[in-house]
Amino acid sequence: MAIDLTSYRREAEEFLTAIDREYYLHFSGRQDDFEIEPIYDRHAGLFSREAVDGLREASAPAALVEFATQGHIGRETKSQSAELARCEAALEVDWDGERIPFRSAAVVQANEPDPDRRAQLDAARNELTESALNPLLRELLDTSHALTSELGWPSNVAMCEELSGIDLRALEAQTSAFLAATDESYEQVVEPQLRRQIGLGFGELRRSDLPAFFRAPSLDPGFPQERLVPVLRETLGSMGIDVDAQPGVTIDTESRPKKSPRAFCAPVRVPDEVYLVIAPVGGRDDFAALFHEAGHTEHYAHVDAALPFEDRYLGDNSVTEGFAFLFEHLVSNPEWLSRRLGVEDPSAIVEHSRASKLVFLRRYAAKLAYELDLHAGEPLEGLDQVYARRLSQALHVDWPTSSWLADVDDFFYAARYLRAWALETHTRAALCERFGPSWFEDPQAGAFLQELWRRGQGAEGGEGILAAVGGTELDFQVLREDLGVAA
Ligand SMILES: [Zn+2]
Repeated sequence: MAIDLTSYRREAEEFLTAIDREYYLHFSGRQDDFEIEPIYDRHAGLFSREAVDGLREASAPAALVEFATQGHIGRETKSQSAELARCEAALEVDWDGERIPFRSAAVVQANEPDPDRRAQLDAARNELTESALNPLLRELLDTSHALTSELGWPSNVAMCEELSGIDLRALEAQTSAFLAATDESYEQVVEPQLRRQIGLGFGELRRSDLPAFFRAPSLDPGFPQERLVPVLRETLGSMGIDVDAQPGVTIDTESRPKKSPRAFCAPVRVPDEVYLVIAPVGGRDDFAALFHEAGHTEHYAHVDAALPFEDRYLGDNSVTEGFAFLFEHLVSNPEWLSRRLGVEDPSAIVEHSRASKLVFLRRYAAKLAYELDLHAGEPLEGLDQVYARRLSQALHVDWPTSSWLADVDDFFYAARYLRAWALETHTRAALCERFGPSWFEDPQAGAFLQELWRRGQGAEGGEGILAAVGGTELDFQVLREDLGVAA
């Protein structure tokens, strides 16, 4: 029976609205329950084998087929994912006589000042990952690969390339060229910042030290709690966006005991009901997270309501992540830091951000290359070694094999982030060229962004945005130049 695209779209939108509403209510601390199972049950037909095949036969837009396919694989692996979550939630790390929940160990490690204690905790986490989580992760991976081939694709790579429209191997060629071009300057850029923040050079650096380096608590005093939400309102206001007058946007800053400590955006109805949720604590990380989520929020809240469902909610997430990065980048922009937060000497913040970004870009480039190996449809023997080798080479530090299954983004989300970083750099360059280095205080720049946001992330995706900002191809050399790294 032929699938009715109109009713499929309507039901898919109802489903996402229900899921995102439940997510918002639970993680904002307004509701204890998190009842997503009944929502999946009510809309089970969206993710059936028949729906996936029907959409493909009807030559439905790729974003709809992608939604159905990912949902299908998610549904078929639901009990395995639940088992993994239960196991992870119950795990405790034994660390120097202390027992701490596995899930909070990463945060504890980032805040631990003693490098040896960080290394001990990292080793204990790796051991648990290998003994308790890897067997479950391996089962989950095998099942999802089997489902991919049942659906008729030779590999997960082939499926993701077809459904996302992203040439993953061409992207990997570009990001590997970025790795090669930045390899020689990498330590020169990063080492002074490592020394400044954690007192270590590459000679002594261990993988377990990196989270403490990113955390950089010495930079927090420039980012006081009481300025967090006001500075977002002011920044948007000077771009000509009065966030309190936006009917579709709710900024939820109320404090509740069970509110998520991390800011998030819940696009419940796009563009008419979008929540930006924050439990304001302050510190640089908190500002960066709030601005990142504000980028998502403004993007979704400006999407043209007349666009089809898939162009409002689905499609190329490089677009929404690109706008999130654009806002997040303000928090390390020297002009913004001095004008909005009165930071007298922003250089420490700017230099730390530049070094961290180079580490992140190189890490994601290595991850993309590895994930292409992992999902190539070939046997998985030896891939733990491939993972460790690629990450070690990219980051110039010994990288353990233990997270070869845990450190994997579903359906090549790493590719979306990499494209988003490139898109953000192109967009920011266009804003600076047209409106000057203080573009974030120009209502015309705000109007320019609003026009881009209206497009959603449909058929043209990231390439459409790129063309609108005057670019021709997503180029990773602009990232290298933007970071001021010599080739
Ligand atoms: Zn994001």
